[in-house]
Formats: sequence, structure tokens, C-alpha cells
Amino acid sequence: GHLPPEDQALVSRRQQALGPAYRLFYETPVHLVRGEGVWLYDKDGQAYLDTYNNVASVGHCHPRVVEAMTRQAGLFASHTRYLHEGILSYAERLLSYFPQELAHVMFTCTGSEANDLAFRIARAHTGGTGFIVTENAYHGVTHAIAGMSPSLGVGVPLGEHIRTIPAPDPLRMTGDLAQSFAAEVQKAIDDLTRHGIKPAALIVDTVFSSDGVYADPPGFLAAAVQAIHRAGGLFIADEVQPGFGRTGETMWGFQRHGITPDMVSLGKPMGNGYPIAGLVMRPEVIAAFGAKARYFNTFGGNAVAAATANAVLDVIEDEGLMQNAATVGALFRDGLADLATRHSALGPIRAAGLFLGAEIVRNGDPLAADATRTARIVNHLREGGVLISATGPRANVLKIRPPLVFSADNVAFFLDRLEAALQAG
Ligand code: PMP
Repeated sequence: GHLPPEDQALVSRRQQALGPAYRLFYETPVHLVRGEGVWLYDKDGQAYLDTYNNVASVGHCHPRVVEAMTRQAGLFASHTRYLHEGILSYAERLLSYFPQELAHVMFTCTGSEANDLAFRIARAHTGGTGFIVTENAYHGVTHAIAGMSPSLGVGVPLGEHIRTIPAPDPLRMTGDLAQSFAAEVQKAIDDLTRHGIKPAALIVDTVFSSDGVYADPPGFLAAAVQAIHRAGGLFIADEVQPGFGRTGETMWGFQRHGITPDMVSLGKPMGNGYPIAGLVMRPEVIAAFGAKARYFNTFGGNAVAAATANAVLDVIEDEGLMQNAATVGALFRDGLADLATRHSALGPIRAAGLFLGAEIVRNGDPLAADATRTARIVNHLREGGVLISATGPRANVLKIRPPLVFSADNVAFFLDRLEAALQAG
């Protein structure tokens, strides 16, 4: 790729106006102007298959979502300090997708704020200050949460009282995965305790997106949850990535493990691009926080957000998108496995519904991560009109996360382009 002068000018303006902390995707950045369904279009009308978007989860600019959003924007667009039915009917409907123990929901604008609220509630409920996260986790941008997001790298120091544990990687963890992962949680608990720190919570992304996508075997998280509960800490499921049907069989990633979290954070796909996020919890865990604190989030759960998020649930239901994630996800996984038989660079493949991770390795050795080749493949796909990215601590896992309206034809298109990228070397 070669960046046209107009786009080079935008890159300079970004640096001038937005400063040094932002990053663009790709060697040749993509300049998008429009989206529809699984497709995105750049300013020259070139189409890109969006295989990476778990925000526009029911498809870019879904007409029902846009209609609900704009209709409410024209009626009333204020916050949660006036009586309004929209937020309540949405809250009740959202809670109906959870085990009955999880009976309250609070609204925020971002997943980071939801996790930050969970952080505060966990401290108030347990009296503890220790948090346990996985080694390459990402949970958000606030000071407290960036401090428990090791994937941000050494430039963003971990917070006090944070302990990290290895990801549940079946290639690198020995023995029974559930027991080994739980043993790591126990080691972190013991280390906190040894330092006089009471554990407040274990928080994990239930598909371990930034750690490299780990969903199997179903149920492996249960022992880790027992370990944190035994220590008096809470279990927080970060569903910002897997939530809202993406994993196919269930609405939430934690359900794959047969567990009931104490709190669940939600975000990204909740409003299909409109900023709405939230935290679902057991009423008993917020009692201590609620007795003292007042919570008001100016834009969180505003009337437009509620109408938009409600339309997202309508679409998930009416278009059978959870089922589609299961069937098309299985097809996608099989297609990748088939491709792997012909290309030794394509290593282990992991998936739950339409959340897939495929390792790029050297010489068919599943442990020989190849980050350079992975970056080449991601950029080659971009040139071929397919958007994805890479993840994991070794930056060698293709992270594939298309809108849930993805079709069998879209899978075939993707596999064709991936094969071309693999052949290109
Ligand atoms: N948790 C996870 C697992 C995430 O992937 C993200 C966003 N990438 C967040 C939390 C934070 O969400 P937001 O960017 O909406 O603050």
C-alpha cells in the first residue's frame, strides 16, 4: 500500500490536533467514510469486509437501530434523574438474560467506567484492595483500570495491589487446565495475603481476548471462581468483548463455564456504536457501596442510549444472531482448520461462536509464535479488502471478530483472502 497525499495530510493533522497518544491501524491507514452490514467503505468507494468489529455487532448502521436512536433523539435525550420508562424497560429486559441472582444493573458510557465501578463496589463490599488479572488483560482506561490492564505494556505501570496470573493457555499450561488456572489464582491470593493485602476480586474477560482467545474447555473457569470466593473476594466477568451473543451458544461468555459471577461488565456491542455500557450485579454486593455513595453518570443510561440498546436486543432476537454466531462461527472454525492442513504457518485455532483466534507460527511448531509474519498477514489482508487485527502477548494470534450478521459467503471470502496472504509469505 501507498498512502495518498490527502490521507498523508490527515495523518499530519491528527498528530497536530490529537497529539502523541493515539495509534492508527495498518502500515497504510484506512480512511473510512461509510458502513453497511459487514462492509465498510473508504473515501474512494473501496469495500472492506469487516471481520474485526464487535461494536457494530448487529451490522454497521443497522436501520432498526438507527431508527430507534434517531426517533428517541427527537423526543427526549436526557439522563437518569427524571422518571423515564425507557431505561426501566431496557434494564428489566437486559436483566432477564442473566441468572436471577444478578438483579441490578447500572449504566455507564464505556466498558472502562463499568469496570471502574466494579472496582469501587468490590472494594466497598469486601473491604479488600487486592485484584487479580491475567498477564495480558485489558480492562480499560481509567487510572485504576489501566493499572490492571497489563496489555498496555511497561509504559503503564500496574496499580498497587494488583497481581497477574498466566492466561489459561492449554499449550503452555501443564495438567488439567481448570486446576492449573485455579492454582495460579490461589498463588496470587496467597501472595496478596502474604503482603497483608486482602483480595477484593478476580476479574477476567471470559474469552480472554487480549490474552489470545481462550474459551475451552467449557467450564474451566469454575475452579478459579471457587478459589477467589473461598478467599472472600468477588468474581467479576468482563463481558465487554464476548457479551451479547457473540460466543454463539449463550448470550454471555461466563455461561459457557456454568458459573454465576458477582458482577458483570458490559459495553462495546451493547449500543451497536452508540456509547452505552453497564454493570450487572448481585444486589448484596452493592449494599455497602449504595449505603454511602451516590452514583450519577451524566450520559450513562440516557433515554437515547436505552432506546438504541433496546433496538440492538430486538435485532439480536428477531434475526437469530446468537444462533447465527454459533453456526457461522463453527463453519468459520472448520474453514480455518482446513486451511491449516495446507499452510504450516497457520497453527492452533481457538473459537467460541464468532470470536476466533488463529495462531501464526514458524514451521508448524505451535509454540514458535511468529509476530512478524502475523503483522504481514494483517497488512496483506487490509490490502485485499479484509479488516482484522492481531492479539496475544506474542502478537501472533489473528483476532477474528466479525459482526454477528456474518454469512457463509463472508467466511468463504475471508478464507480466500487469508489463503492469498499465507501464500504471499
Ligand atoms: N474490557 C475489555 C475486555 C475490553 O476489550 C475493553 C475495550 N477494548 C474494555 C473493557 C474497555 O471498554 P471501553 O473502551 O468502552 O472503555
